[in-house]
Amino acid sequence: MIKAKKSLGQNFLIDKNILEKIVNVTEIQNKNILEIGPGTGNLTSHILKKGPKKLIVIEKDNDLAIKLKNIFSNQVIIINKDILKIEETSLIEEKVTVFGNLPYNISTEILSKWIINSKNNFWFDHLILMFQKEVADRIISKFNTSSYGRISILSNWKLDVKKIIDIKPESFLPKPKVDSSLLFFTPKKVFQKLKEPKNLEKITRVFFNQRRKMIKKPFNQLFNGDQSIIDKLKIDLNLRPQNLDFDMYYKIASEYENLRG
Ligand code: SAH
Repeated sequence: MIKAKKSLGQNFLIDKNILEKIVNVTEIQNKNILEIGPGTGNLTSHILKKGPKKLIVIEKDNDLAIKLKNIFSNQVIIINKDILKIEETSLIEEKVTVFGNLPYNISTEILSKWIINSKNNFWFDHLILMFQKEVADRIISKFNTSSYGRISILSNWKLDVKKIIDIKPESFLPKPKVDSSLLFFTPKKVFQKLKEPKNLEKITRVFFNQRRKMIKKPFNQLFNGDQSIIDKLKIDLNLRPQNLDFDMYYKIASEYENLRG
């Protein structure tokens, strides 16, 4: 029996129906698969049964990495590293499909990192990631809702996002304190090009700094009240941050870049 390490957010998925649902989200057969945080290998086994071309797993826990090597020997490439410290593009030349039931904070961190660092092309064709349900709901939110915010705007910039299922704590061992949701991401073909993706992070930070107030102040802070930009964007400065749709934010980021040359 393996003792779960709280510090590494170890909640192992034990519900066979859920595991089966996860591996049916997208085609696995003959595809390159990257699994992050494989843990005791529950999901790994289900992925293997679907006949991937290549399966690479990244597990930070040394003890678990040794166990995985014993279980899967040469069927799986096991990398005993921290996903946050890996240059993903160095793993494999071809595109991969990524599965991950990671600690919730790490899911959010890698999602932001991968979007911000991506050039015009992603190194993956799909992401299937687990989040705390509240965070997943924020990621898939549309404008004019209370859960709409920075992570929704960032995620929807370059990715199509879909919720697959909500998952109850009972499906894990040990049981987490919160509900989870599995999200499915696919890179968009068309999106607003930006020179520096960090600018999108910056402008959403300024806008959402005071999410209940009118956007007049953050807008003026960024654009010095430039009337020509207000006209061009057709933006109503009496609205609140949550009333601006995705495209408006991408256009604002683009104008911000133009201004700074
Ligand atoms: N996917 C497995 C395990 C989930 S628990 C399952 O569904 O059963 C989360 C796993 O992520 C643990 O095995 C933990 O050791 C691993 N992990 C935590 N932080 C990590 C990191 N930064 N990089 C890689 N793996 C990590």
